[in-house]
Amino acid sequence: ERMMEIRKRNCSPMTMKVTYYKKPVFIHQGYMQWLWDVDGTRYLDLFAGVATVSVGHCHPYGRRKAAAGQTVAHHQHLPSLLLSRSSQGVIYLTNSGSEANDLAMLMARLYTGNFDIITFRGSYHGGSPQTMGLTSNAAYKYPVANGLGCTNTMCPDVFRGPWGGSHCRDSPVQTIRDCGCAPGHCMANDRYIEQLKETLVTSVPNRIAAFFGEPIQGVGGAVQYPKNFLQDAYKLIRERGGICIADEVQTGFGRTGNHFWGFEGHDVLPDMVTMAKGIGNGFPMGAVVTTPEIAASFSKGVHFNTFGGNPVACAVASSVLDTIREDGTQRNSLEVGTHLMTELAKLRDKYEIIGDVRGKGLQIGVEMVKDKASREPLPADAMNEIFEDVKDMGVLIGKGGLYGQTFRIKPPMCITRDDADFFLAVFDKSLHNYME
Ligand code: PMP
Repeated sequence: ERMMEIRKRNCSPMTMKVTYYKKPVFIHQGYMQWLWDVDGTRYLDLFAGVATVSVGHCHPYGRRKAAAGQTVAHHQHLPSLLLSRSSQGVIYLTNSGSEANDLAMLMARLYTGNFDIITFRGSYHGGSPQTMGLTSNAAYKYPVANGLGCTNTMCPDVFRGPWGGSHCRDSPVQTIRDCGCAPGHCMANDRYIEQLKETLVTSVPNRIAAFFGEPIQGVGGAVQYPKNFLQDAYKLIRERGGICIADEVQTGFGRTGNHFWGFEGHDVLPDMVTMAKGIGNGFPMGAVVTTPEIAASFSKGVHFNTFGGNPVACAVASSVLDTIREDGTQRNSLEVGTHLMTELAKLRDKYEIIGDVRGKGLQIGVEMVKDKASREPLPADAMNEIFEDVKDMGVLIGKGGLYGQTFRIKPPMCITRDDADFFLAVFDKSLHNYME
């Protein structure tokens, strides 16, 4: 109660939202996939601070390296490690995903000499004034934007492309399941490409600087592209002089299981990749990787970031990369993620209120609906009831999607099959409780 009082008095109501309304949880301690609150109650963490804790809370290996990082010697280690993981050339280190995306926008504009940027419905690319323009969901920017006299897009030169609706009914472009195709065999690509062409012709004729996309939407609710969409879209954008940027803030570092980077699952090579979250396992760290050619256009002025690439964050990030390799994290993401998806699909068939189960590896979305026929989003109070019930049974998950109708599962990638089974039993029980 005292903590709630302090929060109410001293924290901005805009930024310090309470996740659990019935009984807030105050986390005191964490280890690997586990969290403990101030009363000593243990929770299985399936949200990882929004896919931020990649290898595990307080991973012992990471801590040792962080201490080692207090010497300056480690400073250059991370870029070389990251570059060895990417086939591109130049890296800029930042402190967050928003900073990385800000920088990416700036570089794209300098390189192309154009200003217009295309992002997707449902996307989230950051909370800085610039990246708020890229972010689609109005809830993340309206209160601020209105105050500044800005409207839906903070940046007048950002346009919303077609893809990315996570709601089944009214979205112009929908999820793989929603368009009636088997996962991985979506036939609706032509339609989406037509809509993208239309956006390019009507909104950004020959002025395109960049095309921003998350390989699988995070905040948007694990929405996936139709097969080949990204390949076709990249081609279209490049033909018109724009560059293609993959936001790997949530999907990078093995989270999608099959690949280290999410974009690899689409058989494309972006001109620029932005990353953050998982690379620091909770430490502030972000980066932009791009080609030497694009980086060269950025060499005329001075770019300065006091803490970007500081030794401690670099040491942590480098230990995270080692840990991902040594712990077999990516393989675990694939194995446990596949198991979760298979079992969640069974729950989808069992319960009328699960509209869709989608994602890859440990980037999973469970879209909740009033019923399968209407595909209307499950209302917020019903979502909360299930969400709180799952928490009361010892599991923390996330929520997202344009209408807040998608449960998000993106745990520390060290979770085991037993943890997954524990969650599945809890989720099954909470759905059963709700339906009763
Ligand atoms: N891009 C994506 C895909 C994200 O999910 C987020 C954060 N949710 C960001 C960018 C912004 O990152 P940060 O909060 O570190 O600024």
